[in-house]
Amino acid sequence: MKKLVYLAALAMLSLLSGFTNPKKNTQKPKLIVGVVIDQMRYDYLTRFASKYGEDGFKRLLKGGFSLENAHYNYIPTYTAVGHASIYTGTTPVNHAIISNNWYDKYAKKSIYCVDDSKYKTIGNNGDGGKKSPYRMLTTTVTDQLKLAQNMNGKTIGIAIKDRSAILPAGHAANGAYWFDGGDKGQWISSSYYVNNLPNWVQEFNMSKKVDEYLEQPWETLYDINTYTESISDDNNFEQPFKGEEKPVFPHNIPALKSKNNNYSIIKAIPAGNSLTTDFAKAAIIGENLGKSNFTDFLAVSYSSTDYVGHQFGVASKEIEDTYLRLDKDLANLFKFLDTQVGEGNYTLFLTADHAAVQVPSYLQSVKIPANYFSYTKFRDYVTEITKKHFNSDAIVENISNFQIFLNKEKIEELKLDVHTVAQKIADEVINYKGIYKTVTAKTLQSTTFTNGILNSLQNGYNQKFSGDVLLVPNPSTISHSKKGTTHGSGYSYDTHIPMIFYGNGIKQGTSKKKYEIVDIAPTISNLLQIEFPNGSTGKIIDEVLE
Ligand SMILES: [Zn+2]
Repeated sequence: MKKLVYLAALAMLSLLSGFTNPKKNTQKPKLIVGVVIDQMRYDYLTRFASKYGEDGFKRLLKGGFSLENAHYNYIPTYTAVGHASIYTGTTPVNHAIISNNWYDKYAKKSIYCVDDSKYKTIGNNGDGGKKSPYRMLTTTVTDQLKLAQNMNGKTIGIAIKDRSAILPAGHAANGAYWFDGGDKGQWISSSYYVNNLPNWVQEFNMSKKVDEYLEQPWETLYDINTYTESISDDNNFEQPFKGEEKPVFPHNIPALKSKNNNYSIIKAIPAGNSLTTDFAKAAIIGENLGKSNFTDFLAVSYSSTDYVGHQFGVASKEIEDTYLRLDKDLANLFKFLDTQVGEGNYTLFLTADHAAVQVPSYLQSVKIPANYFSYTKFRDYVTEITKKHFNSDAIVENISNFQIFLNKEKIEELKLDVHTVAQKIADEVINYKGIYKTVTAKTLQSTTFTNGILNSLQNGYNQKFSGDVLLVPNPSTISHSKKGTTHGSGYSYDTHIPMIFYGNGIKQGTSKKKYEIVDIAPTISNLLQIEFPNGSTGKIIDEVLE
């Protein structure tokens, strides 16, 4: 009897606490929103903090859980690989997206990660929509959510870049939409997903929002003299737009448009992020996301940050302005989610697909070691090695993404052993200027590297698709023009990214513990109580979950 009273009291208490704490939402999320900021370094959160508003990045930092020491754990840190790894919870070892473009040794040609000629463009008569995620071999957290709900619930992927919409949305998505630039200026899709553009996409395209954005010059959001977090606007380390003499504000977009591939210019200015936000909002309404009894998933990736970063570099006024404006776009999106889906009804995570190195020529100017790598010169060097040791200039089939692909037929014809040839090349090219480490595929197959840069190289190595000799360049050594910058390495400047969870089921706090990008998908899977993606190698980040 006593026990019964106690139990009744307990039930009463939990019922009461349910009423007295309405903010505590015990319902599963109605919508998961994955936000990926292309090329966002962790330090962009702190560097511009004094100028961010309260409702963008700071809202996530204050109300959510921020992992301050989150990193990519593989090489190469490129866009397609990043998006695939976030959503599959594994690395190229398993998901097989080894780069954006790579040499397909079976087809004997360079391929693009999401090209698929089996499908046609939906939205116009161009080739921009002949895409699918078929080269990604494992499932995504978005796929697992669809499977767990017997294909109920909707998944929509959105980004200016096709690969950043397609890979996150997974194989079983309802739709993925990306922006077709050039003379088109429309959001399109692939017949892999749909046979016609949904009404809301057609209406968005007809609204000509993109034209409105391109009628404005790109000026700084605030007085440029207050932009004290970046170097001087006019410098030698930035790439002006075509038709511009200097890489300085204001950038006269209407006048520059025709010289910079028309509608494609919006990719490389902050308005591209605003357009993405507008389109994401249209998707939430058009697809009724977060309104059913099932959990929906919106995967949105902001691509313009990457184009601006490549063109102007990490320290530029343009990057500062792009992030201050993105902060406003994010605030706008979060507020929209509050009214449309309801605060507490959605869970959001924000991260990046890779970070970026400071412009090497800028680093050199301040005496920090940095350099440029020329594939043309390197190829000549490798040819001299194979001529000298194996009396042939036809042994190497392709060099790309810091990997050497050998011509196996030629090696057999010359009656040489492929492992001997690979090892000799690895031993010789280590002497090339700017090369830091060299490893053969055989070593990666027979040795387990548990930490450091070789562990990252191994995590990015796929036995079936990767090359025969893998190279690691020196820190801050890139293959790029001397103006602007890039990414792709396993060094901290490319691997350290924001990782923030927010909303339904998420605690408030921060952590300085080291986490890896592959931990996001298992954490979201655990939050949803669904099976992990089938190749997942990450762990559940226990401390962010309620
Ligand atoms: Zn990039």
